[in-house]
Amino acid sequence: MSVRVRIAPSPTGDPHVGTAYMALYNLIFAKHHKGKFILRIEDTDQSRSKPEYEQNIYKALSWCGLNWDEGPDVGGEYGPYKQSERLDIYKKYVDILLEKGHAYKCFTTPEELKMMREMNAKLGQKSGYDRRHRNLAPEEIHSRMAQKQPFVVRLKVPLTGICEFEDEIKGKITTPWADVDDQVLLKSDGFPTYHLANVVDDHLMKISHIIRGDEWLPSTPKHIHLYDCFGWTPPQYIHMPLLLGIDGKKLSKRKNPTSIFFYRDSGYLPEAFVNFLTLMGFSMTEDREIYSMNEVIRDFDTKRLGTSAAVFDIKKLDWLNQHYLINNIPADQLWTRIKEWGFNDTLMSKLMPLCHTRIKTFGEFFELCDFFFVNHLPYSEKFLCPKGITPEQTCYILQTILWYLEQNDDWSRDNFFAGSKEIATFFGINHKKIVIPVLYATLTGKHTGPPLFDSATLLGKDKTRARFLKAMEFLGGLSNKKLQQLQKFWISKSGVTLFEKS
Ligand code: GLU
Repeated sequence: MSVRVRIAPSPTGDPHVGTAYMALYNLIFAKHHKGKFILRIEDTDQSRSKPEYEQNIYKALSWCGLNWDEGPDVGGEYGPYKQSERLDIYKKYVDILLEKGHAYKCFTTPEELKMMREMNAKLGQKSGYDRRHRNLAPEEIHSRMAQKQPFVVRLKVPLTGICEFEDEIKGKITTPWADVDDQVLLKSDGFPTYHLANVVDDHLMKISHIIRGDEWLPSTPKHIHLYDCFGWTPPQYIHMPLLLGIDGKKLSKRKNPTSIFFYRDSGYLPEAFVNFLTLMGFSMTEDREIYSMNEVIRDFDTKRLGTSAAVFDIKKLDWLNQHYLINNIPADQLWTRIKEWGFNDTLMSKLMPLCHTRIKTFGEFFELCDFFFVNHLPYSEKFLCPKGITPEQTCYILQTILWYLEQNDDWSRDNFFAGSKEIATFFGINHKKIVIPVLYATLTGKHTGPPLFDSATLLGKDKTRARFLKAMEFLGGLSNKKLQQLQKFWISKSGVTLFEKS
């Protein structure tokens, strides 16, 4: 059997380190078995997918040096490799399932579903769909269709028995079918869901092994059932343990920098980054931590894949990076590399206009702009918290501005400015009071320098977000309870009471 593996990221956000992690293991597996590594873009969630996110996936993986043999940009025998270009294919397979009686049209409205969930919650029951349209009479389906009632197509999951499959890391996995919902396969907008498109594509693209994160494990029984309905042989499964933050919880952008670009922009070397990712899922036979991808490809063995979650420990990454920096970059090439990284003409041409009227001597350039080039800012409570505002309240300000910027993923200078104004109003405090001591200090570690909102644009979303998180962490952060409370205020559009003097 020829080995064909794939990653199938959805372009719905910044390129995540988890995507690089999965790409790395799929690539190693493919190369070890002299097979092919495929990149497929799963963009069926029309409301969340964006072309720029797709481009960022290509850019980020290319920066890591994780190159694919087939994909939307390079083509291949089994294309198109972007799901939005394959809608006719899914339609054909949904019709096959309907015809064979493995799927059914469900006309339940969103309001009815909501009521069903609320009712189930009250009764302490599982909150799934109650299968009310699983056995509608053909005449009723016909009449609802004639009335043009919107519908989704659901999979008829077996009602009894167990689903059993073999995972190459975890061994035998069994799930009672009673725990699995009648999954929606086709949405009312005619787009397939992840489950249908993923299975159809994996089959048509002749994927032999599915190497993906643990979080997809609950979906696998539905996929196995789909393969069964179509009469196809499922691929082999390898579900990799999750990446955890240093706090032992799932790596999340709410707490850690998770965008690959953050690591690129902070001056890490791709080869160190990739070595670091390899270390988290695999152990070499000799007790070594530094190795090239070619060595891992040569020595790869599924049995040596980790079975428990790995911690994404930046201190370890720093250590590895230093090793690569010393050993792979001779001193006489260091400046060229640093120049390419942060002192390139593209960045400088944007930075110079911000500095032009703000320095008396060249010597002051660095005093003014050092924050663009450093990874650690010297925070102090006095500096971050305006007079009369507590560290906790400062965290409220930072957190709500983050939410504001994230809601449309718009980090432009104008939106940042508008956001800071709105947050000042939200808390009933003076805009000036938060701009310099909170925002300026968070992003630059200073109270003076180039214009704040232009500087934030130039720093970029990933570093900006990371500095917000760092400053909040420095100030003690917000407990889950406080965060929830803040969220309630945020939804109700006024947080004035959080700043009222007691
Ligand atoms: N589209 C899914 C993702 O975003 C793919 C999961 C899988 O590999 O099946 O990661």
